[in-house]
Amino acid sequence: MTLPIKSLALFFTLFYAAQALSGSHDNAFANITLKTTHVNGTVYMLEGVGGFAGGNIGVSAGEDGVLLIDDQLGPMSEKITAAIAGINAAKPRFILNTHWHGDHTGNNAHFSKHATVISHSNVRKRLMADQENFFGKSPAQPKAAWPLITFDQSLRVHFNGEDIQFTHYPNGHTDGDGVIYFPNSKVAHLGDHFFNGVFPFIDLDSGGNAFKLTENIKNIIASLPEDTRVIPGHGALSDMQGLRAYYEMLKSTTTHVQEAAADGESLEDIQFGGLPSEWTGWGGGFITQEHWISFIYNSLPVKQ
Ligand SMILES: [Zn+2]
Repeated sequence: MTLPIKSLALFFTLFYAAQALSGSHDNAFANITLKTTHVNGTVYMLEGVGGFAGGNIGVSAGEDGVLLIDDQLGPMSEKITAAIAGINAAKPRFILNTHWHGDHTGNNAHFSKHATVISHSNVRKRLMADQENFFGKSPAQPKAAWPLITFDQSLRVHFNGEDIQFTHYPNGHTDGDGVIYFPNSKVAHLGDHFFNGVFPFIDLDSGGNAFKLTENIKNIIASLPEDTRVIPGHGALSDMQGLRAYYEMLKSTTTHVQEAAADGESLEDIQFGGLPSEWTGWGGGFITQEHWISFIYNSLPVKQ
C-alpha cells in the first residue's frame, strides 16, 4: 500500500456513499484489477492492483468448490466473481471474515445468497451495529452481510481435503480477528494482524491494542511451520522470514514508545523524536510513523 491516510479515508467514504448511491461509484474502481496468485496447494490469493480494492482475498478452490477469506469493498464484487471463475467454476460456499472492517467484509451481502459467512462472534456484533473509528463512521450492515456461524476461540472447516483452522487472536487489530491456516497447503491468512512492509492500523475503538498485536504475532509465528506461505491483510504475499521481520519491527517500536512514555515523554515528544532510524521506512504505507507512534502510545495501559 502506498496510499496516504486521507486516500484510504476517501475510499472508505466512497464505499459507504456507494452503498447509498448505487451505480454512481463505478469510476473510482474502474482502473482496479485483481491479480491472482497461486500460493500453494488449493490456495490462491487475490490482490487489488491500480487502486484500493480492500484487503487481500484468500481462495480455497478444489473438489468441494470455493471458499473465500474476506471479500474486499462492495464495488469489487464483479471483479472478484470474474477472478474466482478463472480458478474454479463453482460459486463460493463459505466466506471466512478475518475481522469486521468494510474493506474485508464489503461483499458479504453480495455472496451470502450462495455462501455461508463464518467469523468470530465480535465480528457479527460489530457488523450488526453502527461503528465509529479512526476512519469515521460505518453504518450497521444489512442482515444479508451478517455471519450465520460464529465462534469464540477456534473452529475448523473441513473442505477441499483440508482441516482448515480458524483461530481467534484477541485484541490485536480489533477484538474479533481470526487467523486461517491450511495445514495441507501450508498457507496462513493473517488478516490485518499483518501489514506486509508497513506499519499496521490498530483499531483502538474496536478493541485493538499494539502490544497485544505484537504478542499475538509472536504466538502466531510459534504456531506455524517454517515453510508456511503467509498472506497479509495488506501488501504482498510473504513467508515466515517476512513475518519475523514484521515482528522485530513491532517488538522494537512498541518497546521504544513504552520506555519513552515511562521516562515521562508525552505523545508529542515521542513523535518529535521519532522511531529508531532502522524502522522509519515502514512509514511508507497509509499509516505514517506519527500515526503508528500514537497507536502504540494510546495502547499503553497507563499514560503519563
Ligand atoms: Zn482492518
